[in-house]
Amino acid sequence: MTARTLPTYSTHSPLWRSAALVGLALTAVLLLGLAVRPTLTLHVLWDMVIPLLPLVFLVNPMIWRNVCPLATLNTLTGVRADRRVPSRGVLQSGWLVGIVLLAILVPARRFLFNENGTALLVTIAAVAALAIMLGLVFSRRSGFCNALCPVLPVEKLYGQAPLLRIPTARCGECTVCSASGCLDLAGGKSLAQSLGPARRSTGWFRSPLGLFAAAFPGFIVGYFTSVNGPLSSAPAVYGHIGLWTLASLATVLAVVMLFGIGWRVALPILGGTALAAYYWFSAPAIAEAYNLSTTWGAILRVATLAATATWLVRALRQGRTGTPASRLARARPTGPS
Ligand code: SF4
Repeated sequence: MTARTLPTYSTHSPLWRSAALVGLALTAVLLLGLAVRPTLTLHVLWDMVIPLLPLVFLVNPMIWRNVCPLATLNTLTGVRADRRVPSRGVLQSGWLVGIVLLAILVPARRFLFNENGTALLVTIAAVAALAIMLGLVFSRRSGFCNALCPVLPVEKLYGQAPLLRIPTARCGECTVCSASGCLDLAGGKSLAQSLGPARRSTGWFRSPLGLFAAAFPGFIVGYFTSVNGPLSSAPAVYGHIGLWTLASLATVLAVVMLFGIGWRVALPILGGTALAAYYWFSAPAIAEAYNLSTTWGAILRVATLAATATWLVRALRQGRTGTPASRLARARPTGPS
């Protein structure tokens, strides 16, 4: 397979390499902490670290993709480019599995992962093993990072109009291991590639990513309006979040059909709505976790709303004019859509 060099957008800087290693080391610390100090570790992870990730995605999901420890593990074994390259159909199935994984794992926080360190430790270790194994089967990052990573749909949703331009630090030379939709390669065009031909009509929501985007705001509201409970509360948690998710899907479907809204308008609005809802609910808890007053919680709410609005305006403008990010994306080599 011929490698494509991404000279302008790729970097193997020592800084990013070090950051990726730090990510790996912190994961080891996390696993150790979950084993020996689960209560403290769960508090730091869920209340202080994870709530910052959506903001990182808003700035640019490439920050996370460059340091994600699971990506590092997937890259370690998948570095050989002569392994199997999945077809677009296989990739799409992977995207669907990733979305299903997200829909299973996030609600499971309520009755399992928020309070059970062992369960979280085993799950992280299992997903890490999966990333390693998929690297042994599929070329480079096509088996995990660009297929069934549960965070991938979120990265793509916010990667359509990142606030800062940040290059990939993983692939100095692209061998097109993924037939379409690679964020590292296609940047802002990744979303359009992932939607496929469905994006040319109002049927965009029938694609896995379209379905995900339509369901996401309701999913977020459903999560934050559910409460932690014992394992036996699992059906109630899934039922509650599932109802919000279905309500979101039905509402978006009705509005899209009624007004003929295309993906370029709908997906930014859905991404912005989900993020605004996320910080509306979580800002007071984040302030509390960092030992800040309720005033800071209110400030955080306003600040994240402002950042989301900036992103939304950018994303809508980009969808209308194709600038500046898609012009940049057109200027770089991309995989087939
Ligand atoms: S398609 Fe993406 S992950 Fe695969 S080699 Fe190219 S830039 Fe890297």
